[in-house]
Amino acid sequence: MPERLGAVWVIAELTGNRLTEVSLELLGKARALAAQGGGSHTSAVLMGNDTGSLAEELIVHGADRVFLIEDPRLALYQNDLHAFVLADLIKKHHPEIVLFAASYCGSELSATVAARLGTGLAAHCTDLRIDDRGELVQVVPAFGGTVLGDIFCRETRPRMASVKPGIFPKPEREATRTGEVIKETAAVLEGYKSPLKAVRIVRRQPPELPLEKAPAVVAGGWGVGAEGWHFLEKLAGELGGAVGCTRPALDEGWAQSEDALIGTSGKTVRPRIYLGFGISGSAHHIVGMKDSGVVININQDPDAPVFRISDYGAVADAKEFLPVLLEKIREHKEE
Ligand SMILES: Cc1cc2nc3c(=O)[nH]c(=O)nc-3n(C[C@H](O)[C@H](O)[C@H](O)COP(=O)(O)OP(=O)(O)OC[C@H]3O[C@@H](n4cnc5c(N)ncnc54)[C@H](O)[C@@H]3O)c2cc1C
Repeated sequence: MPERLGAVWVIAELTGNRLTEVSLELLGKARALAAQGGGSHTSAVLMGNDTGSLAEELIVHGADRVFLIEDPRLALYQNDLHAFVLADLIKKHHPEIVLFAASYCGSELSATVAARLGTGLAAHCTDLRIDDRGELVQVVPAFGGTVLGDIFCRETRPRMASVKPGIFPKPEREATRTGEVIKETAAVLEGYKSPLKAVRIVRRQPPELPLEKAPAVVAGGWGVGAEGWHFLEKLAGELGGAVGCTRPALDEGWAQSEDALIGTSGKTVRPRIYLGFGISGSAHHIVGMKDSGVVININQDPDAPVFRISDYGAVADAKEFLPVLLEKIREHKEE
């Protein structure tokens, strides 16, 4: 058993006035690391305005302590302000490990804070554990996901890592759990005038069925084309699932939003059934869907690498295959 490590922190992330799922997923992993680290504390950092009521939610999901910083200047995520406040808090309390969501905000915030503290950050980790020397092993896919690298941060503290949503399971809510709420301030911002100003806030409607929760994912790639895309949406509707995509389909604007991207820079999905159309099977995409239940792919190239990870495959033109499949499913439902 290694010496007892210092505290493991999770930086809680908000969407509107709710905690994101990934914040809770990270708490589960933080507790596991704290246990492996000889019984260290698990703490969460909650920065915002009027967010105090969420501290309880963090405690019942595994935080022993919540550092709560409420300030009107932190109401909206703003990189410079949040990074100043968080770096200051870390300098004051010296946590051993700090975990962030690898979301847009979390990726930016973690990198800024790491640079400010002069410490290391392993981004987009797919696993984290403490080895028997007490080192934090940060597992990161490299070379498009074909290799998993173990990253160590031996010389500087804290050790920081970011993790995408959906990688770790969300811990059960333990309603009887108790913890301590420690109020801190954003005093470090006194006298600081940010060069950034929010001009407009546009709230995107979250999808009815988030991709990572869909039991069926219908994914489209470059081979589907703009003209075939609406079939994917219809098919997902018939299957009670959601549409996912590859990077080229997103860049072309066929997919509705970044929320649909699957892979290294997108989401990790584990649906019961994954149906892919016109997807080549690059490691950057596969890394985000390889743990799906049944994997079916349709590609016109019989040598497409995606067939190597498929349970079933059809060599066909996706644009011709999709309307036929849709019709068959509808007929079957009517029987
Ligand atoms: C740092 C980095 C991060 C990345 N992150 C991601 C990520 O998170 N997610 C992601 O998806 N990509 C990501 N990429 C891009 C990735 O490397 C691939 O370029 C991408 O996944 C390929 O998408 P695709 O399969 O749609 O397109 P292509 O590789 O162009 O493949 C298209 C496939 O469609 C087939 N096809 C063509 N026409 C038809 C048809 N009519 N019917 C049936 N099949 C047809 C072709 O045979 C081909 O196999 C990333 C790249 C980098 C460098």
